[in-house]
Amino acid sequence: MAAAIPTVRRELVTRALYGIAAARACARSSRRLVHDSRRLVELALTLGWIAGGSFEDSTAVAHRLRWSVRRRLANGVLPPLEGQAWPGSATGKPCTVCGGPIIHPDLEYEVSRPTGTFTHAGCFDLWLEETRRFKD
Ligand SMILES: [Zn+2]
Repeated sequence: MAAAIPTVRRELVTRALYGIAAARACARSSRRLVHDSRRLVELALTLGWIAGGSFEDSTAVAHRLRWSVRRRLANGVLPPLEGQAWPGSATGKPCTVCGGPIIHPDLEYEVSRPTGTFTHAGCFDLWLEETRRFKD
């Protein structure tokens, strides 16, 4: 019976550690969502999509950006994304995808091809997704 207590404690500790890890992952995910939402609002402000005291919700803004990327890939204004990308600290450069400034706390993705290209993390993901879709 005495040996059962350490086993139960070990299970509780293990469960607690899993719970803590899950909570941390959830917090990271929430921070990312808040960050992305703020970026979309900043983008909407930058591009003038917010006007007259009302604004489109972030889903509509993201949808509009996706269609913009598709259209620009199709007509050759935006080249397909190729090569590699390196994330780094934001330096305020304009994002090739959305045109908005890449500012802290965003990461700045430097793309190898096309050279001299920088994007927000979310814009990089979008560009990559749409490049794959474009090539299929
Ligand atoms: Zn961007």
